Amino acid sequence: MLTQPNKELLASLIDGEVLYHNAPCGYLSFLPNGNIIKVNRTLLLWLGYQEQEIVGHHIHILFSKGGQIHFEMFFQPLIAVNQEVKELSYTILKKDGTPLSTLLSASVLKNNVGETLAINVVITDISYRKSYEDELLRAKKRSEGEKRRLQFLADLIPEIIWTTDETGNIDYVNKRFSQYFNEVSFEAIPSEVLSKVHPEDRRLLIRHHLESIKSLNDLNVEVRLETTTGKYEWHLIKASRFTDEEGFDNKWFGSCTNIDFHVLALKKKDEFINIACHELKTPVTSLKASLQLLDRLKSQPDNKMLPQLIERAGKNATKIHLLIDDLLNVSQMSEGHLQLNKSVVDVYEFISDCTANINQDGYHITIKSKGRLEAQFDSARIEQVVVNFINNAIKYAPESKEIEIHLDIVDDQVKISVQDFGPGIPADKLDFLFQRYYRADNPGTNYTGLGLGLYICSEIIKRHEGKIGVESQIGIGSKFWFTLPLAK
Ligand code: ADP
Repeated sequence: MLTQPNKELLASLIDGEVLYHNAPCGYLSFLPNGNIIKVNRTLLLWLGYQEQEIVGHHIHILFSKGGQIHFEMFFQPLIAVNQEVKELSYTILKKDGTPLSTLLSASVLKNNVGETLAINVVITDISYRKSYEDELLRAKKRSEGEKRRLQFLADLIPEIIWTTDETGNIDYVNKRFSQYFNEVSFEAIPSEVLSKVHPEDRRLLIRHHLESIKSLNDLNVEVRLETTTGKYEWHLIKASRFTDEEGFDNKWFGSCTNIDFHVLALKKKDEFINIACHELKTPVTSLKASLQLLDRLKSQPDNKMLPQLIERAGKNATKIHLLIDDLLNVSQMSEGHLQLNKSVVDVYEFISDCTANINQDGYHITIKSKGRLEAQFDSARIEQVVVNFINNAIKYAPESKEIEIHLDIVDDQVKISVQDFGPGIPADKLDFLFQRYYRADNPGTNYTGLGLGLYICSEIIKRHEGKIGVESQIGIGSKFWFTLPLAK
C-alpha cells in the first residue's frame, strides 16, 4: 500500500498535454497571419472536426462572413493594442454549419525580443447559458405580454383599479382611475382622492384605511365620491393584500365600484315600505275603530249608526284589498308571472261595463266612439287599467266632474283615452309617471298612493303588445291613453 505518492505519479498528474486536451474549455493557437497551429481535443469534439481538417487553416474557418468581419475589426485590433482580450462573445460555426455560442479570451505569446509568435485562445461554451438567457428573455417577453393583457382588461372594466406597495404608496392605476382623478401624479393621488370624498365620509375612509394597513385585513368601505358633474355618488372601496408564494411582494390591490344605483334603490325600497305601511295603516285603523263601535252597538240592532259603520268598514276593507292587490300584482309582474286570458271583446260595451262598476259620485263619464270596434285582450286586466285611469282622474282632478273616454283607431290599433279636465301634470314629470313607485307631488290634494297603479297599467299593456302614454297641459287637463291590437 502506497503511503507517499512518488514523483513520477505526481508528474503524470500534471501532464500538461493531457490537461490541455481534456480541459473543459477549448484551446486554440494561431499565428499572427491567422493560420491555426494547434487545437485541443475538447474544441475538436465540440466542432466535429478532425485535427487535420482545422490545423493549417485560417481562423476564419470558424466564423460566418459577418463573424469574420467582426473578428478582423474588433478582435485583431484589440489583441494588437492590449495584448489580450477577455470574454468576447462570438458565435462560431461547427463543421456541419450549426452555431455554437462562445466567449473568446486570448493572450499573445511573444519571443524574448518582443515579437508576436502566436495568439492563444481560450474558448468557453456558453450555449447552455445562452439558451438560458434566451429562455429568460422569452419569459420576460411573455410576462410583459401578460402584463399588457391584464392592463388592457383593467382599463376595459368600468371599475376604478389601483395597486400600492406594502407601505400604501400607489404604483399602478387603470385608465378609469386616471380619468376620474384628473390624471395626477402617483404622489398627488392620496390628496386628490381625499378631496373627492364627501367631507362627511373622509374620517371613515381614513380610519378604515389605517386599520386595514395595520391589521392586514381587507378594506371594505362605502363612501360618497364627487363625480365630474359635481354630484356625489355612492362607491364601494375595496382593497386586499396580495402576497406571492414565497411571501414576498406584499402589494395591495384596490377597486372602487359605483354602487349609487343600488344604494338609492335600497333607499327607495325602504321609503316605499314606509309608504305602504302608512297606506295600509290608515284603513286598518279606521276598520278597527268601526269594528269596536259595532261591537259596542251589537246589542242595539235598531241603532241608526249600524248601517253607516258597516258601510265604512266595507269601504276600508276594499281599500286594504286593493292595496294588497297592487302589491301582489307588482311582485307577480317583476317575476314575469302575469298570465293573460285573451278573448275577442266589443270595446264600447266593455268600457261601458267598466264605468258602470265605478262609484261615480257626481262625476259624468261620456264615452265617445267612432263605430263598432273589436279587440282581443284579457278583459279583467284591461278593466284594471281603465278603472285605474278613471279613478286617477277622479282622485287627481277632484274639481272637474267631466271625464271623457275616447275610442279611436290608430295604426291598426284601438286607442282608448281617458280625458280629465283637472289641474294637469308638469311636463318634466310626464316621463316618470309609469315608473314603479313614482308619485308626482300632488299639491292641493290629500291623496296618497303607492305610485304603483300606472306602473301596473304599463306592464299589462306591454304584455298585450300595446302602447301606453299621457298628454297633459297645466290648467287644461290630462289624457291617459293606451292602445290594443284590433281583433283579426
Ligand atoms: P298613485 O296614484 O298610487 O300615486 P299612480 O301610479 O296611479 O300611483 O300615479 C302616479 C302619479 O301620477 C300620481 O302620484 C299622480 O301624481 C299622477 N297622476 C296620475 N293620474 C293623474 C291625473 N289624472 N291627473 C294628475 N296627476 C295624475
